[in-house]
Amino acid sequence: MLLQWFWMPLGALTILVIYQQCQIYWIHRASRKREELFQIVTENAADMIALVDVKGRRLYNSPAYKRILGYSAAELGETSAFEQIHPDDRFQVLEAAREARETGVGKRLEYRIKHKDGSWRVLESLASTIRDARGEVAKLVIVNRDITERKRAEMQLEHNLFHDPLTGLPNRRLVLDRLQRAFVRTRRDAGHQYSLLLANLDHFKVFNETMGTGAGDHVLQEIGRRIGACLRQDDTIARGASNSSSAEALLSRLGGDEFAILLDSVGDPSDALRVAKRIQEAVAEPFFVDSKEVRASMSIGIALSALVHEKPEDVLKDADVAMRRAKALGGSRCEVFDEAMHTRAVGRLRLEADLRAAIAERQFRVHYQPVVQLDTRRIVSLEALLRWEHPTQGLISPYRFIEAAEDSGILVSIGHWLMLQACRQSREWEVNHFSEQPVNITVNVSARQFADARLASDIQDTLRQTGVDPARLQLEMTESVAAADPKLTITVLSHLKHMGIGVILDDFGIGSASLRGLWQFPVDALKIDRSLVREMQTDRSASDVVELIITLAHKMNLKLIAEGIETPRQVERLRELGCELGQGYYFSQPLDAKAAQQFLRQQVAPPSASGAASR
Ligand code: C2E
Ligand code: MG
Ligand code: MG
Repeated sequence: MLLQWFWMPLGALTILVIYQQCQIYWIHRASRKREELFQIVTENAADMIALVDVKGRRLYNSPAYKRILGYSAAELGETSAFEQIHPDDRFQVLEAAREARETGVGKRLEYRIKHKDGSWRVLESLASTIRDARGEVAKLVIVNRDITERKRAEMQLEHNLFHDPLTGLPNRRLVLDRLQRAFVRTRRDAGHQYSLLLANLDHFKVFNETMGTGAGDHVLQEIGRRIGACLRQDDTIARGASNSSSAEALLSRLGGDEFAILLDSVGDPSDALRVAKRIQEAVAEPFFVDSKEVRASMSIGIALSALVHEKPEDVLKDADVAMRRAKALGGSRCEVFDEAMHTRAVGRLRLEADLRAAIAERQFRVHYQPVVQLDTRRIVSLEALLRWEHPTQGLISPYRFIEAAEDSGILVSIGHWLMLQACRQSREWEVNHFSEQPVNITVNVSARQFADARLASDIQDTLRQTGVDPARLQLEMTESVAAADPKLTITVLSHLKHMGIGVILDDFGIGSASLRGLWQFPVDALKIDRSLVREMQTDRSASDVVELIITLAHKMNLKLIAEGIETPRQVERLRELGCELGQGYYFSQPLDAKAAQQFLRQQVAPPSASGAASR
């Protein structure tokens, strides 16, 4: 029994020892297997795997090192890993290694390391730790992945995002970002000032049209280079591109022929102006594109940082207003945004908003002014004139809003509405009141309407819809609209003529349309501008011009209308000179539809309609 008690623990001990031995055997075996596995993995891995001790000494480098960094295992042994790391990245690598040693947790990091050929490779690395029997960190296993190509692609993508592919200059996104920073800095420190220049190439369309878009691209590249050469390191120049996304609505103001220049730390108007002048001089130097001499000029708007700006876009708007002013004043000039401009710009914006509301609220009306035969006073047509019945200001003349409506594009839809309205009215008069003598209607078309490719088909639809005979409709356009793009004018006018619609050149005699161009345009009548009619009595040269226009019109077989006739003497003189038709307060003010109907009724109608506007 005692012996039994003695042998029992001994047997248990033996079993324990045997068990332990077995365990050690299996652990060794497992560990050998693990090492083998480690070797297989590391030898074949695409990533570089390194084993280092706590002092950073290399214990093992996988073969991928040779492929990625160009060093053989033997060569690597002789190099210092630390020295191969980019000096700017060394600190973070050391810190990461220290942290891994102390906490036992490695972290992911990116750093640059030198290839044997001297170039830099970017590695992404993750360290993990191996502890010794006491639980202390003894070794680090570092897995390095070569991400050089990925980084390069990312950088290219980022570059593309912020640069214009044509000129290589920063794009609007980048300049807005810099503007934002300058803006925030000025908010914090009012002493920090900056200026924003918007430089727009004058008549860039002409380059594209006459020399082709390829030449246009060269012009933009050269201009961008020249502007860049006028700037300092801290300044930013960007070119706009025409393919803007709608999210960049505001910045889409920056057109393809437009450059934005942010002058950091330049807050004095005269300094900004000096840079602008320098840019203009540099741009004005002639250069050659496809062995043709090219001369360019720019209109530059300048906005200066000011505390009234609530957001960076406000600065951009100011520069845009100033640039537009430079354009409106004839181009090739610099304008600095000032208070008066600000007031005007704010007024304009409000007006545009009011006009949009006026469309929605149906506040537009059509008035009609008779055109009469000067000898018989018989009405030959009615000119449809737009009126805005403002809820508080009463009836507003187009003189006060037509420019804003045109610039903002609103006039196209108003014009479309007016045409429909006038045609409906004309048809109503014809069917219900004056079937014996149908009324001719004259409608004014603006530059944008005229350039709209849908003009002719819209008119056709309107005529079909209302049942108006095309021969009863005349369009009026100013000579400047006609002369803006002679080729387009000829095409559109020929089309309209083919449709049977008459065309009158409005405000004739004060614009700069060339006679040669005029000769080419298939128009039916000229309307002598009212300033000439007014001055004809007092100014000899105005009278001579009127006489000349009348002679010219007769030679060209065109009808003539004199507008703005206010006195019987003017009627007399115009008749003497051979002008047949006239319009003005002397005969009638523009009238609303009801009054116009009465006016039409009053006239004693001779048998058939004739005259210029009625053809
Ligand atoms: P416009 O086409 O030359 O029209 C003649 C303008 O002279 C009209 O001004 C008319 O009211 C005014 N007028 C007529 N007789 C006399 C006169 O004896 N003395 C003076 N001092 N003025 C006279 P309104 O209606 O204010 O229109 C101004 C301009 O606005 C028009 O000039 C035309 O260019 C434009 N406009 C008017 N309605 C439209 C429209 O529906 N579409 C477009 N695109 N433009 C329009
Ligand atoms: Mg007119
Ligand atoms: Mg006129």
